[in-house]
Amino acid sequence: SLKCGIVGLPNVGKSTLFNALSDAGAEAANFPFCTIDPNVGVVPVPDERLDHLHELVESKQKIPTSVEFVDIAGLVKGASEGKGKGNAFLSHIREVDLIVHVVRCFDDPNVIHVEGDVDPKRDIRIIEDELILKDLETVEKKVENLKRDAKGGDKKVLHNLEVVQQLKEHLEVGNAARTFEVDPEDRQIFRELFLLSDKPVLFACNVSEDDLDSGNEWVDEVKEVAAEFEDEVVTFCAKIEAEIAELDEDEKQAFLEELGVESAGLDRLIKAAYEELGLITYFTAGPKETRAWTIRRGTKAPQAAGVIHSDFEKGFIRAETVSYATYAELGSEKAVKDAGKMRQEGKDYVVQDGDVMLFRFNV
Ligand code: GDP
Repeated sequence: SLKCGIVGLPNVGKSTLFNALSDAGAEAANFPFCTIDPNVGVVPVPDERLDHLHELVESKQKIPTSVEFVDIAGLVKGASEGKGKGNAFLSHIREVDLIVHVVRCFDDPNVIHVEGDVDPKRDIRIIEDELILKDLETVEKKVENLKRDAKGGDKKVLHNLEVVQQLKEHLEVGNAARTFEVDPEDRQIFRELFLLSDKPVLFACNVSEDDLDSGNEWVDEVKEVAAEFEDEVVTFCAKIEAEIAELDEDEKQAFLEELGVESAGLDRLIKAAYEELGLITYFTAGPKETRAWTIRRGTKAPQAAGVIHSDFEKGFIRAETVSYATYAELGSEKAVKDAGKMRQEGKDYVVQDGDVMLFRFNV
C-alpha cells in the first residue's frame, strides 16, 4: 500500500502526530485495518463523497480507502554519516512514496528545541542536507562505476556518465534531486538510484492552536521553501489533534467550534498526502458495501478493476460508469439509468476521480 514517512527534527511533534493518526485509524468504524506495528499506522482517507454515497445507497458497510504512515524518528545532524540511528533512518525513507516533513512552527518554552530556537528554514535545511548527503554517496558510487564501464567507449555509458555527473554537481551545491532538470529519456538513469531527495515532500507545519486558521510567519517561511521545491504545505496542530483523538465525533465538533476552527488539520494532512501522491478515488456502491478504491491518476478501467480483484482485470468486459456529481444529483442508480446517464465504458476508458463504477467481467 502507499506509504508516507513522517520525518522531522526531534521535538517537532512527530510522535504526537503519529499517535493522532493511529487513533484516527483505529476509530473508523468497519475499517479493515488497524495499527500494524508501533511505528506503522493505516489511516482512512476522509471523503465526504463516500459518506454521501453510503447514505444514498444505504449499504451495510462503508469502507474508505487508506494511506499508511510510518513514524521515522531520530534524525539528527550527521545521520548521513551514521550518527544516531542515522543509517536505519535513511533506509526507512527509501521505502516510502511520500515524505511528510513535520516542521516546528510553534513556540513553547516548555518544549526544548534541539537547535535552540524556532527557525523553520534552518530546520528544513538540516533534514534536506542529510538526505542530499546520503544521495551524494549513492551518486558518487554510480559515477565511479560508470567511469569504469566507460573505458569501453560505449556511447550510451558515456552519456549516462555525463548525466550522473551533472546530477552530482547539482547535489554538491545543496540542491535536492527532485529539482534536477533532466530530459525525460534520461530520467530513468537516476530513477534507478532511488534517491531520497527525489521523493515528493509534504511539509506539515505544526502550529499552536491560536495560529491554526491564520498561520504565522514561520508557516510563511515554510511556504517559501516549499515553493522552490514545488512541494505542498499543510498546517495542523499536533497538540489539539492529540486531545481530540480521544473524543467521539460530536464532542470533537463541539470542541473545534469552541476553538473557532473548522478542523485541526489532520484530515487536511491526510487528503494532501493522498493528492501529492497523484492518487484519485473511484467508488463501488451496492447493498453490501459502499467503498472507495485508490488508483493513480491516468489508470484505465481494466487496471482500476484489477485493484478489486485480478479476475476483474483479466475478464474485463466493460464498466457501467457515472460521475459522483451526477449520481448525487439524481440520487440513485435507478434514477441515473432512467435518465440515460449510465455510461458503458470500455477498456481504454481513463477512470476519473469520483467515478462510481460497476464492472462487468467474464470469469
Ligand atoms: P517528536 O520528537 O518530533 O516526535 O515530538 P513529540 O511529538 O514527542 O513532541 C515533543 C514535545 O512537544 C511533546 O512534549 C509534545 O507534547 C509537544 N508538542 C507537540 N506538538 C505540540 C504543539 O502543537 N504545541 C505545543 N505547545 N507542544 C507540542
